[in-house]
Amino acid sequence: MQEKDLQVLRHSAAHLLAHAVKELFPETVLTIGPATKDGFFYDSLPEKNFKDEDLVLIEARMREISAKNIPLTHREISKEEARVIYKNNPFKLELIDQIPGDFVGLAEQGDFYDLCRGGHVASTGEIKYFKLLHISGSYWRADKNNKQLQRISGTAFFTQQELDEFIQQREDALQFDHRKLGKELDLFSFHEEGVGFPFFHPRGTIILGILAQHLKKHLVKDGYQEISTPMMLSDELWRRSGHYQHYKDNMYFSCIDEKSYAIKPMNCPGSILVYKERPRSYRELPLKLSESGSVHRHELSGVLSGLFRVRAFTIDDAHIFCTKEQIEAEVTKFIALNDEVLRPFGFTKTVIGVSTRPEKAMGSDELWNIATNALKDALDKAGKKYEIYEGEGAFYGPKIEFGIEDSLKRVWQCGTMQIDFFQPENFDLSYISSEGVKERPVMLHRAIYGSFERFFGILLEHFKGKFPFWLSPVQIKVLTITDEQKEYACNLKQTLVDHGFRVELDSSSDQISGQIKRAQLERVPWMLVIGKKEVENNTVTLRYLDGKQEFGLTIQQVVEKAKNAECY
Ligand SMILES: [Zn+2]
Ligand SMILES: [Zn+2]
Repeated sequence: MQEKDLQVLRHSAAHLLAHAVKELFPETVLTIGPATKDGFFYDSLPEKNFKDEDLVLIEARMREISAKNIPLTHREISKEEARVIYKNNPFKLELIDQIPGDFVGLAEQGDFYDLCRGGHVASTGEIKYFKLLHISGSYWRADKNNKQLQRISGTAFFTQQELDEFIQQREDALQFDHRKLGKELDLFSFHEEGVGFPFFHPRGTIILGILAQHLKKHLVKDGYQEISTPMMLSDELWRRSGHYQHYKDNMYFSCIDEKSYAIKPMNCPGSILVYKERPRSYRELPLKLSESGSVHRHELSGVLSGLFRVRAFTIDDAHIFCTKEQIEAEVTKFIALNDEVLRPFGFTKTVIGVSTRPEKAMGSDELWNIATNALKDALDKAGKKYEIYEGEGAFYGPKIEFGIEDSLKRVWQCGTMQIDFFQPENFDLSYISSEGVKERPVMLHRAIYGSFERFFGILLEHFKGKFPFWLSPVQIKVLTITDEQKEYACNLKQTLVDHGFRVELDSSSDQISGQIKRAQLERVPWMLVIGKKEVENNTVTLRYLDGKQEFGLTIQQVVEKAKNAECY
């Protein structure tokens, strides 16, 4: 209900925007102004392109119209009448033609009117907390063969506080954009020579390695066995798995010995071949095969977006082959594993959804019920709240999606657990039951990070570039007041490296303030500052990234502290 109210408010704000535009720039031709997930926009064709200064004027006029508290009314008029009103607006004429029936809606506030099917607040005074955000280009009906328009976007809320929070988050998101931070912190880059393929630099590669190690530790505890399958497999396999028929346009092909091969867009068929390699017994189930599987998918260049949308990435994939009776236990284990792996990253909350049977589906009703109930029961028993996405499952089975909310209050869908009845059937997978009968296993596809690359980008923004100690590519930087302390510093560095920490020594002769500044820019969480006194007393001063300091620590104390800051 509240979500709907917000849509009504925002759509009304779009009318308010159009009203202000028409008063200030009467020649502007209006098109449409819907509410969106984050606010609203209005697309129009102005006489002259809008400038950023115009936004200030338009917003000020919107406030004036809001203050007048003009009632919003809505009535039906005949299409005939509407065509007269809009005789000079080809966009609205096109809309009128497309609306079924003989009548269309007209929204009015004072002397402003707009073609609209309705759903508004009662008067302009109700639209109080809004802001115009930017101007961009758009096309009529989002088709670049059509006329180019100008889009003014804004947002509106019911309270000043919500609006302020939104604006702050938006500024943070711009400031902490992972593409910007990735460059500043020398973590990764993109090059013309491989559009959409990320290049990880030494420091970025360290973080990827820690993410993999962190995950692996938990997978081993949970009984997964790691495999590694080829990057390229024959077309025949992709035809059998159905990827060729459904996903061909996103796949890259090559030829080996005159046979056509595809670079894998998914890891599942590789796992299936490993399963099928020999007869399997019920004693082996659940068989949990994990794979850090590198995949390539062709995405249009227009949708590529830093690490969030790339053409080559690595999935923290795993396939669980089990009996249908084992589904619930495996889902329960996965929910716990997902929580455990994500806990040290400090995401504020998880948003869970269960997608159920779509209209067209394979597998018996009984199987669907068992699988869907297994997902729901496991979530209920784990005390997790979730939403049901009715009918949104894939045709081959239901799934759970795990969204994580980051420090900027954005939800990212990362983890999934997908139940699959299709591939076991399709590849004729089997196991021998305790009664000695050949049975069909169920296959569960699951991931926690989703893609290492995308998860890396999410973390970079979530931590605003300041990785916690255990994830930092450089954990400790040793700084000296003068060059006289370099030898002591060098030994100190070596001691810490021997303990397994990632440590650097600032070898410059810059003043200490300059060294601190540099370490801060590199977002190094700990600095060890060494002066004459520290050398004399065989101690160090520990300075944190936020400026807090601890004096007179022995090296042993620093090692202990650092061990506690690691994530075990
Ligand atoms: Zn309207
Ligand atoms: Zn899979």
